[in-house]
Parts: sequence; C-alpha cells; structure tokens
Amino acid sequence: MRRRDLLKAIGASVLQFVFRPAFALPFGLKRAVTRPRPSDPLWPSAASWAKLKAAVGGNLLQPRALFADCQTDTNSQACAEVRKNIRNPFYIGDQPAGTEVSGWLDAWSPAPSAYAVAARNAADVAAAINFARENNLRLVVKGGGHSYLGTSNAPDSLLVWTRAMNKVTLHDAFVAQVCKANTAPVPAVTAEAGAMWIDLYHAVTTEAGRYVQGGGCTTVGVAGLIQSGGFGSFSKGFGTAAAGLLEAEVVTADGRIRIANACTNADLFWAIKGGGGGSFGVVTKVTLRTHELPEFFGYVGGRIKAQSDDAFKQLIERFISFYRENLFNSHWGEQASFGPDNTLRLSMGCQGLDNQQVVNLWKPFFDSVKDSKDFVASDLEAGAGRSRHYWDVVDRKRRGNDSMISDSRPGAPAIHGYWSGDQGQVGAFLHGYDSLWLPASLLEKDQQPRLVDAMFAASRHKKFEMHFNKGIAGAPPAAIAATKDTATNPAVVDAFVLVIIADGGFPAYPGLARSGTETSNNPAILAAARNNKTKIDLAAAELRKIAPNAGSYVSESNYFNASWQQAYWGTNYSKLRAIKKTYDPEGLFFVHHGVGSEDWSPDGFTRAVKGS
Ligand SMILES: Cc1cc2nc3c(=O)[nH]c(=O)nc-3n(C[C@H](O)[C@H](O)[C@H](O)COP(=O)(O)OP(=O)(O)OC[C@H]3O[C@@H](n4cnc5c(N)ncnc54)[C@H](O)[C@@H]3O)c2cc1C
Repeated sequence: MRRRDLLKAIGASVLQFVFRPAFALPFGLKRAVTRPRPSDPLWPSAASWAKLKAAVGGNLLQPRALFADCQTDTNSQACAEVRKNIRNPFYIGDQPAGTEVSGWLDAWSPAPSAYAVAARNAADVAAAINFARENNLRLVVKGGGHSYLGTSNAPDSLLVWTRAMNKVTLHDAFVAQVCKANTAPVPAVTAEAGAMWIDLYHAVTTEAGRYVQGGGCTTVGVAGLIQSGGFGSFSKGFGTAAAGLLEAEVVTADGRIRIANACTNADLFWAIKGGGGGSFGVVTKVTLRTHELPEFFGYVGGRIKAQSDDAFKQLIERFISFYRENLFNSHWGEQASFGPDNTLRLSMGCQGLDNQQVVNLWKPFFDSVKDSKDFVASDLEAGAGRSRHYWDVVDRKRRGNDSMISDSRPGAPAIHGYWSGDQGQVGAFLHGYDSLWLPASLLEKDQQPRLVDAMFAASRHKKFEMHFNKGIAGAPPAAIAATKDTATNPAVVDAFVLVIIADGGFPAYPGLARSGTETSNNPAILAAARNNKTKIDLAAAELRKIAPNAGSYVSESNYFNASWQQAYWGTNYSKLRAIKKTYDPEGLFFVHHGVGSEDWSPDGFTRAVKGS
C-alpha cells in the first residue's frame, strides 16, 4: 500500500489539511491550510481518480504542456503539429493545457493541471466540484482560455474544462425561470459555457438577423467574458455583455446546480455579471437578450503622423474635440492610439450609421489633416456596410475580404474565423499591461486641455490605445441602466473610454525554443522586456494624474495592480465579498486578484484561518 493510501486507511482524512505556513499571514490570521499537490500524502489515490473518471463518462484527462512533445523529441510529428498550429487561436483553445497568451513576465507561466474534467454537462461539472471540495484540491476553470492574468491554468490542480459544452439555442420568447408570472417574454439566445462568441454571432446575426452583445475577439469564451463584464465593438450602443444576461446555470461549491436570474439566486446572478470568472462557481449555461440588428456597421481606419511634437499635441487636441462633438454617442466604439512616433492610428467602429453618414461625418476631420503640412495621413478610410454579414466568415472569404482568418485545420467548422487584427495577441508573451477608465467629465471644454496634456505626456513613454467601446458613458439610457445593474466597477458608466497600454513579445510557451525570443534564459531580451514594462507603467502614471484612483477592467488590466479590489469593482467590492462567502464559504474557487483571493497565498494553495 502506498503511503497516502495507508494514511487514508487509518483515517487520516480527519487531518483534512497539511499545515504549512508558506507565506506571511495578514494580521489577525494565525494558521494556514494547504491544498495537497500530487507528491503529498493527501493527494487522492489512483482509485479515487478512477472513480471520478467513471463518474464523468471517462472524460478525465491528464493534460500535458503544449510543447511537451517538443521537449522529448523535436523531430516528432506531434511537435511539428503544435508548432504549425501555435498561432491558431482555435487550436490553442482545443488543447486542455492551452492558454491564448504564453505568459507574463515575472507574473505567470502556463502550467498544465494534474487532471482535467472535459465536462459535457452540468452533472460532470458537479462531479468535478464535489471531488475537488472533498479532496481539498486546487480547482481551476477554463472556457476559451483567453485570460491575460493566467487565471484559467494552475499547476497541480484539477481543471474543469468547458470547451466541449458549446451548444447554442435561439428563443423567440424567453422568460427566466421563476420569473414567469410577472415578466414579459423577450427574444434571447442560450449558450453553453464553452461556446465562443463566433458561435453566437453565427447563430444570432448571420443566421437569424439579430444582435447579441458579446466580445470583440471572436474566440473568447462566453462565460469568461460575461463574468468579466465584457465589451464588444458596439457596447456603446448596448452596454456590457453582462448587462444582457437574463439567466445562468451555475454549479456552486456545494455541488448544487442552480439557476440564477433576477428572481432566484439574484445575488449570485448579480455577482457573475462582472464579478470576475472562476470565483463564484462554474457557469454552465448563459441566456442573453438579443436585440434588433442595426442595419449597418461601419469602420474608420488610417494613420496620421504629425511632423513635430507640437503638431502631435495639436492633433490630439483636434481629435479630442472632434470626438467630443461627433463621436461621443451610442454609435461609436473601438480604438484610436497615440504613440511616441507622434502617430495617431485610427481603428474605429460604429453601428447604426450608413455609408454616407460615416463618410460625411469624418470628412471635415480628414480634410483638416490632409490640408495641413504638419501632418502626413495614410490609408484613411471610412465607410459602412450591411451588418448581417459582419461575422460571416464564409461570405467574407467569398468576397475576397481578408479581415477574418479561418481556422485552417482540416475539418474545422467553416464558420470559425477570427479578426486578423487579433493575430498579434495569439500566443503573445506579455511584458506589461495596464488599463484605466477615464471619466467623461474630462471631455468638458474646460477640462480638455488637461486631458490633452496628459495624453501627450503618456505618449512620450509608450503607445496607448483608447477603447471607446469599453467606457459606457454616452450610451442610451437602457444600456446604462442595464450596465449599472452589474457587479462591474460603477466607474464604467461614467467613463467615456478605457485606456489600454500593453506590450509583449513573441510566443514563449515553456518548451518552445525560439532563439532570441525566449525571455526565460536570455538576459538581454529580459532587460528589454523589463524596460518595456517600465515604459507602460510611466505612461499609465501620466494618465492617472488626471484620473487618480481610476478604475480598471478586470480582464484587461495590470497583474500587479495593488488596489485591484477598488480598481475592478469599486463600491461593489464589499457586496461581492459577502456573496462569495454565501456561495463559496471555504474558498474553493480561487483566481489571482479574484473576489476573496486576499485570503489565500498567491498560488491559491494556502489559506489563512482565523483564530485557532
Ligand atoms: C486575444 C484576446 C482578446 C480579447 N478581447 C476582448 C474583447 O474584445 N472584449 C473584452 O471584454 N475582453 C477581451 N479579452 C479579455 C477576455 O474577455 C477575458 O479574459 C475573458 O475572461 C476570457 O474568457 P475565456 O473563457 O476565453 O478565458 P478563460 O481563460 O478560459 O477564462 C477566464 C476566466 O474566467 C473563468 N471562467 C471561464 N469559464 C468559466 C465558467 N464557465 N465558469 C466560471 N468561471 C469561468 C476562468 O476561471 C478564468 O478565471 C480578450 C482577451 C484576449 C486574450
């Protein structure tokens, strides 16, 4: 009998925890509780794992690192396969150890779980949760695998992986359960947690001619995005993705499969609308409101390079004034970026305006820069097209439009595509990242000079992007009201923009040897990466001068943000903490900088217990 089996046989389960004070305990906390790792005596026996495997229909895996095969034999076919596909986000998402980004400097590095339940339904999820709770295991949850903060992977953990749960169903008249008596039916879409946004866009827009508010990146998972709050290109018109949630099925830490909506488990329902993924339970199904599809979606792109620092400042001034007068409304979202090369890059999107309206709107701004010797403009374009085929990968291909890239693997669904603009992020290794919501009050005439000065100062350090669709000020009242009724930092509805400052390098998955780009063992590359991070921090600091205590978007934020509770959730944090205690009193669900994570060591393995 092995040592851990022996311990079990003699009733060691009453020990419950291995005491190992592995980190400095906060004041008032006296004892630590540690979760077992595979080498520990209290790790479940092979027989226990076999039982779990039977309970989940055989769908228990032992994931291997993405590049494990390359470490054993670089010439193997398996190694060639992963190398060929590593810039394909669909391929990465299909791997149990896949993470969309390949890590973050000095923060985290991808690590496979010890075991993964490839869940097919809520019962599988409940079996995994019960097993993790009974064995005191570190649990992680993964859907689309797009966490920048690395919160869907952890070594020595049990993973609940929802990828195979991806059914999408449309409703003409949906009424949330229990609400039946007093609620009017609405058109809606139900998706299982592992579905990606492209699956919903195909069903809702391409096939049914309606609109659902989801994320911009088509390969993000639905449940992960909704629990982030979640923004798409047209969120200025419809609010966050969480704002459209009507109902969810959630398996909580006690293994119960619950329905959460405005009428039942309403506190849990509110918490999963922006309270952060992997913290309150495993969401197995979501139902979202659908909207009438705007007839047109539009696009504005191009680059404007100023010929001097003074001219660049003037350009920022002109753009902000133009934005305030013409674009600060429910139509306009997406991005403008400003960099140390004195260049403004436009990549903006709109909904509800036709081609002529878009062209006319931008003409004065474009003319003013084209007519000036202070600026060199290139590739300026503005226009709009019918929205029905916006996410139609097949139609884009037929028209020779290359803005979407298909999943290139043989047999892949033809409807699966991702924006070519997202390609750079696939597999990227992050050097630094920060985001901050800027209040709309900065757009007031008398405040614009402060805003312009801060933008110019930030741009001296690092290129920053203004994501106008990720600040909800300017949206219609219904979108604002629905977004207010979520757990996201209330600052989101007062903000006209989320500024994102981020940079990184080529893929650096463990085991992927790339000469000159592998940051882990090349001091020169490491130094450059740290320098990059410093510039990001300096740029963010310039903007914080005009928005002290600015909120930050939980899923697109700084891993090292020391005041994350306030930044992500603001005044909502204490309520979220209370809800966490109700549904997960023992802290089974842990993610870095998630609600309640302050009770745990940074790796989520050691919990401080009060008193004893
Ligand atoms: C390339 C890229 C583009 C992005 N674009 C956008 C964008 O356009 N708009 C935007 O708002 N955000 C965007 N994000 C951020 C993204 O929305 C969030 O990181 C989101 O949480 C990812 O969800 P996921 O399921 O794909 O990722 P995962 O890494 O699988 O999950 C993210 C978090 O949610 C948890 N989680 C996942 N599924 C469940 C579930 N079923 N139940 C409980 N917890 C769960 C995980 O534990 C993890 O903590 C982008 C990220 C990347 C990497």
